[in-house]
Amino acid sequence: MDLLTNAIESIQVGIQDWETGTRPRLLSAVRNIHAGILLLFKEALVRLSSPSSHDVLVKAQYKPVMVNGEIKLVGVGKKTVDVPKLKERFKEFGIAADWKLYDQIADVRNDVEHYFADVTHASLRGVIAAAFVLIREFMERELEEKPLELLGQPTWQTMLKAQELYALERADCDKLFEGLNWSSEALETGVRMIRCRICGSDLLRPDVTESHWDSTLTCRSCGDVRTGDEFIPGALEAALEVESWVAAKDGADDPIGECPSCDGQTYVMSEGACALCGESATQKCESCGTAIPANEMGSSPLCGWCDHMMSKDD
Ligand SMILES: [Zn+2]
Ligand SMILES: [Zn+2]
Ligand SMILES: [Zn+2]
Repeated sequence: MDLLTNAIESIQVGIQDWETGTRPRLLSAVRNIHAGILLLFKEALVRLSSPSSHDVLVKAQYKPVMVNGEIKLVGVGKKTVDVPKLKERFKEFGIAADWKLYDQIADVRNDVEHYFADVTHASLRGVIAAAFVLIREFMERELEEKPLELLGQPTWQTMLKAQELYALERADCDKLFEGLNWSSEALETGVRMIRCRICGSDLLRPDVTESHWDSTLTCRSCGDVRTGDEFIPGALEAALEVESWVAAKDGADDPIGECPSCDGQTYVMSEGACALCGESATQKCESCGTAIPANEMGSSPLCGWCDHMMSKDD
């Protein structure tokens, strides 16, 4: 198995798919490019494994064996490491990869078939741009190879052009985002992380208005327009994903609750305000004095229990 050749061919085929531009080929483009990147990552681990170790670092399983009186670890079977393990091994062995870009590409790979009904050549340009930057850096820094030579002129030029065009459009959108006062830090972060629900593009242009409550996002790729009540819940979820995950794992309180004023799933607990309507609400029950958890914020100024008891009395 020659991982590097497989990686290069996957990326080349992915770029051809992207250029063809029909829906099945666009789906295939994302899958191929994603697969190619994972193979590149695995190549770095293979190169670090000693020749007699059966590629120990890239194998999902390994076992100790005795060789000339010394105990060594060798890889077992064909199954290779999954992404969480890959991240772990990169950390342990000091291999650097842009995981943020990787996660962006992986998210599109997971969503493209089910959510982006009208995916297009243009709406995937951001994925090609992200892949280009990630692959170029990884090949040069970690594999000490020349990406232009490995990928070949046609693939390299296509990716380079996509990246340049995307960077221009990205800068345009970012400038508009900077001109807006979002009043919520989580929203300001999250609004740059979401994608068009129709075509999957992440180039969403905010239409600047006096207050952000009634601002809209327009997709540069397909023209779909979303209002605040449509995009703010998703933006908050994206920005606070890690906090939500940690909270769920540790049984701690959620970072986002239901707003008692506008009923949106948009009340940011740590900011003490709703990112959609801007209202603040008391986070301490006025009747029993306990802290109101996120999932009971809808009944503020009372906690869920006191609210329930009051409504029984009525
Ligand atoms: Zn779109
Ligand atoms: Zn609200
Ligand atoms: Zn209470």
